[in-house]
Amino acid sequence: MSLSEFELIHRFFRDLGAARDDVVLGIGDDGAITRVPPDHELVTTVDTLVSGVHFDENAAASDIGHKALAVNLSDLAAMGAEPAWATLAISLPEVDESWLQSFAEGFNALAAKHRVQLVGGDTVRGPLQVTVQLQGLVPNGAALTRAGAQPGDAIFVTGTLGDAALALQMIESGATPSETVLGQINRPVARVAAGIGLRDLASACVDVSDGLAVDLGHVLAASNAGATLQLKALPGSVAIVVVGDEQERWRLQLAGGDDYELCFTAPADNVGQIDALARELDLRITRIGEVEKKKGLRLARPDGTLWDMPPGGFEHFRA
Ligand code: ADP
Ligand code: MG
Repeated sequence: MSLSEFELIHRFFRDLGAARDDVVLGIGDDGAITRVPPDHELVTTVDTLVSGVHFDENAAASDIGHKALAVNLSDLAAMGAEPAWATLAISLPEVDESWLQSFAEGFNALAAKHRVQLVGGDTVRGPLQVTVQLQGLVPNGAALTRAGAQPGDAIFVTGTLGDAALALQMIESGATPSETVLGQINRPVARVAAGIGLRDLASACVDVSDGLAVDLGHVLAASNAGATLQLKALPGSVAIVVVGDEQERWRLQLAGGDDYELCFTAPADNVGQIDALARELDLRITRIGEVEKKKGLRLARPDGTLWDMPPGGFEHFRA
């Protein structure tokens, strides 16, 4: 490793996030040492953001730093885990100090907010690409998974759906999305507190990154069940509810992706406690359907008839 790379790591990545007392050894050695508390399990997730695929080539560096962590926080939220330690593997085409400073600020602000410490990483020269690995903690046996949804369980989603897809669609058509809608692409918010609050309430959980239909599909497959969603119940922001064509609106909300909300199932008996959690967190949580024994995902129009969604949604390997 050249001196300049050493200096780069030292200057920009050394003290990012919270200073945690369960970090025995952080950045600077061949590996990080962290202490998992007794009676807890370690949950690990990793996500890569590629320039031009997961963010625009001209995206603000601070937004990239934020998003690289946020997408991982969202995965831990879906597991009901409390975030703790991150590593960062970054490939940079050049050493641009103001870019690195801004990237580090975006990462740092979100890491500090969630008490995450950056404990290591790797820095290489190459096309711009950012990989964050995040580890979190759950009490033994308390993690939420995609399996566990039971016929009769209610299906819920946090926040609103479709803003990121709407923003992308607007940008592609040359329109200018509002700041709020743009924020959903550039600075997504992960539902970490909701995931932790749902540990004892939800029967299964997933975060919505590829679109509600696909991600709920993962829960149903893992749980060996099916479901019906009520299209009129899908929660949308003010920007989404004014999309005039209801089929277009449903498609954005079901297949858009990049929502980073939690979709979870729970026994109907827990509805009261889920409402209380929503109030406590000041977070919209909407009941959108029901788990059924019959396999597959059915979409019910307001008049009760079923709707066939036209194909779409974001899939990386689609031709
Ligand atoms: P090694 O050659 O042993 O893999 P490196 O020279 O790559 O170690 O890294 C030196 C130290 O700096 C290690 O502790 C590593 O975890 C840390 N590090 C390297 N790149 C980053 C980064 N982008 N963010 C955080 N820590 C980093
Ligand atoms: Mg080494």
